[in-house]
Amino acid sequence: MAATVHQFDTHLFLIVLTPPISGFQDFIGAWLVAGPESVYLVDVGPASTADPLIDAITALGVDRLDYICLTHIHMDHAGAVGHLARQFPGTPVVCHPKGTPHIVDPERLWQGTLKTLGETGRAYGPMLPVDPSWIATESQLASAPFQLLDTPGHSPHHYAISTNGCLFAGEAGGVCLPLPSDDIYLRPATPPRFFLETSLSSIDRLMATRSETLCYGHFGMREDGMNMLAMHREQLLFWEKMLAVETAGQGMDSVDFANRWVDLLLAEDPLLNGFSQLAPEVQVREREFLCNSVKGFVGYLASLKENPISNFE
Ligand SMILES: [Zn+2]
Repeated sequence: MAATVHQFDTHLFLIVLTPPISGFQDFIGAWLVAGPESVYLVDVGPASTADPLIDAITALGVDRLDYICLTHIHMDHAGAVGHLARQFPGTPVVCHPKGTPHIVDPERLWQGTLKTLGETGRAYGPMLPVDPSWIATESQLASAPFQLLDTPGHSPHHYAISTNGCLFAGEAGGVCLPLPSDDIYLRPATPPRFFLETSLSSIDRLMATRSETLCYGHFGMREDGMNMLAMHREQLLFWEKMLAVETAGQGMDSVDFANRWVDLLLAEDPLLNGFSQLAPEVQVREREFLCNSVKGFVGYLASLKENPISNFE
């Protein structure tokens, strides 16, 4: 199926990628910057949607890429990198150094994805390896039309990409889904192992760019980027306060435990207000991600109780 393409200004496109998973519509995408001076991708989506992505890029009249950038090495963002690099040979692949081993030899990442995501992982499809010589060199990065911001938190190998007042945040600014109304649905993307201070510093690094145009990894663009990031920062502190009352005990990794907290957070966190406006199958998907984010927080808070000093990653 052909990918939907949203155009945001003359040079900025969001190519919507829809893997064959229930509720995964309007959730995964690749950003294409097709300027007069340089053309590059930010994230490529999973391997299973490599063909519609390549078709969409070609249909936009793009026949070369100057960079293929990856915000982080999760299958829904980086899975198609090997396919894209083969389609556009010689294009430097930009990836966090901690993530490079995973794209050069993706077998362990693939096995891990199958183990943690099961059917969803299978629907993303296996990544093709990237030749080490395709990874962007320091001099290629030095002349790039964007800056890389080291923004760990959602994953230890996470970059945000900043260019001309526009910020590609990956998942360092949370996940924000467009709604049919003015309401908001913004949630933490804090799976285990999560470290609050690491994520807060990354948000501060994003805010230091003063970029108002914020392009989310999930999903779409906001023109009030600084406000969104400030609200997300507060949200992480609010979750910390709410979840801190939980005393370490048995069953904390059970599905019921996480779901109970998700229900409480849906009732108390104003930034989750828009949840009820999501389609039923999207709510199912989001509840799973919310549970995982709760588990990240609970694990972090438990680690603080065990070892209050070494909580920085
Ligand atoms: Zn993601």
